[in-house]
Amino acid sequence: MRKLLLLSLFLFSVMTLVGQTTYIHCGKLIDTKAGTIKTKQTIIVNKNKITGVLDGYAVSRNGKDKIIDLKDKVVMPGLIDLHVHIENEFGPRTRLERYVLDEADVAFNSVGFAETTLLKGFTTVRDLGGTGVNISIRKAIDAGKIPGPRVFTAGKALASTGGHADPTNGSRRVLIGNPGPKEGIVNSVEDAKKAVRQRYKNGADCIKITATGGVLSVAKSGDNPQFTIEEVKAICDMAKDYGMHVAAHAHGDDGMQRAVLGGVKTIEHGTYMSEATMDLMKKYDVYLVPTITAGKEVVDKAKVKGYYPEVVVPKALAVGPQIQGTFAKAYKRGVGIAFGTDAGVFKHGNNAKEFGFMVEAGMPAMETIQAATVTNAKILKMENEIGQVKAGFYADIVAVDEDPTKNINTMEKVVFVMKNGVVYKNE
Ligand SMILES: [Zn+2]
Repeated sequence: MRKLLLLSLFLFSVMTLVGQTTYIHCGKLIDTKAGTIKTKQTIIVNKNKITGVLDGYAVSRNGKDKIIDLKDKVVMPGLIDLHVHIENEFGPRTRLERYVLDEADVAFNSVGFAETTLLKGFTTVRDLGGTGVNISIRKAIDAGKIPGPRVFTAGKALASTGGHADPTNGSRRVLIGNPGPKEGIVNSVEDAKKAVRQRYKNGADCIKITATGGVLSVAKSGDNPQFTIEEVKAICDMAKDYGMHVAAHAHGDDGMQRAVLGGVKTIEHGTYMSEATMDLMKKYDVYLVPTITAGKEVVDKAKVKGYYPEVVVPKALAVGPQIQGTFAKAYKRGVGIAFGTDAGVFKHGNNAKEFGFMVEAGMPAMETIQAATVTNAKILKMENEIGQVKAGFYADIVAVDEDPTKNINTMEKVVFVMKNGVVYKNE
């Protein structure tokens, strides 16, 4: 019923917006580029674009245009999360689900995850790995068939045999098979090239590699290096040819260094990052995507008996508590900080908890918002289209009740969401 209501609301908004100009009156408006807050501003929206931002509360001359009153709200551009898994939500049944869910089941589940994410103010996400259904989700959202954020997806993440994101890890032998580049498993430079080209063919927007072991895979190590530097380099070089950047999941420092030297754009998690690696990241303009929320989640859930497979528990208890501290050190040392949460490891829609964890670790609130807007837009090479409320940009606009520089937790309660000029939420 709620979905139906949302859909009709959605269609209604689409219809009313065609050809119409909307004036949004903002009590406060965050300038994410400058890191300042302006008062009494009007955003003019036509179709899916922002056509102007004016001082004061402006109305159109004919008086016929739509006005949205956000005079007692704090308005900002739509938020961007650079690390989600839109296809699934981790739980005690996840391991089993890999064998019992069909792609269609995964797709239906993800429809809800996409909608939840959007309604929490995240108008753009980078999806860092699933089965490939994530590519279909992007298409369905872009076509207006389902509500959801703008999606950049890696499709299936690339791993080496037995590595984090080898889809047959921990299965009985008869089910292990021999996955290769087509399935995202890479064991040589040649495989690396094939695997990237296959992702391109499948419709991925970027490449994700698992540079080290990971917490939630059914395998012993959570931090060992899992690619040679030659393989990483081959992946990054090939990705570049296709206009894609590479994101590297990494907990251990050795694998992280290889990833940075090999040419990746972002390091996900970064748990055991050394100061030397931080300096390399600065030198090569590589960003850290902290995912502190996921770190907190795996520690909590590792204490629940049977929630994770046994091999996962010690890894979760070792890795989880480190992530926030490493983020604090990296930020202090001047490493570029992006905003990304690993939603899907925890409940979709809780993405904005990350803001509070970043502030708690010493990053000023305004900078966390800049990470989730202008910085992330730049990494996606969309810095002239999203991440700011500015003429010519997509009309991705959200609002909260309070000034987030005074209370960062307000980011968890987004009350207004517009994406591409369509209002999805206005409480
Ligand atoms: Zn992830």
